[in-house]
Amino acid sequence: MSIRNDIERVLINEQQLHDRVITLGERIAQDYGGRPLLLVGVLKGAVPFLADLARAIDAPVEMDFMAVSSYGNSTHSQGYVRILKDLDDIVIDRDVLLVEDIIDTGLTLSYVLDLLRQRAPASLRVCALLDKQKVHAKHLHPDYTGFPVEDEFVVGYGLDYAQRYRNLPFIGVLKPEIYR
Ligand code: 5GP
Repeated sequence: MSIRNDIERVLINEQQLHDRVITLGERIAQDYGGRPLLLVGVLKGAVPFLADLARAIDAPVEMDFMAVSSYGNSTHSQGYVRILKDLDDIVIDRDVLLVEDIIDTGLTLSYVLDLLRQRAPASLRVCALLDKQKVHAKHLHPDYTGFPVEDEFVVGYGLDYAQRYRNLPFIGVLKPEIYR
């Protein structure tokens, strides 16, 4: 059973993802001037992006992960954020780059940013693969963005619907009958 049959259209293909991640990685390595960097990934959606991005950054990189929940199994934000797993590492005095799969309402991002800021990192920036570019309540703008996307529900390359489709190598839109 191919999961690709559930996709109505491909928004960003594998080559486009690859090319953009390489560009982002080069820019990040340059901006940090070779300083060690802690990549913080928000589980589970950021995993494929973070894994590819880390390999595109030619500088000392460490990785750590947090898990938060804001969506459950639905396709609409439930308006709250809960920590399911905290970081293993200490972030004080470190250059931290928060890696997110997608910014929709910005609720998850602002929650995680507030939390990390309280831990006094040397610097804190955000790299989001996708940005729905809504007028975020807290005026959140990622320092690095992969692609702007329309306000529609997307899956693939880490993004799920009911925990599936994270392993698609591209970003796409599901057929409407899948939601029903
Ligand atoms: P926010 O807090 O910005 O509204 O939502 C962020 C989180 O909601 C993302 O990290 C992601 O897990 C989920 N999310 C938001 N938009 C989408 C989408 O279009 N597709 C999928 N699969 N998840 C999304």
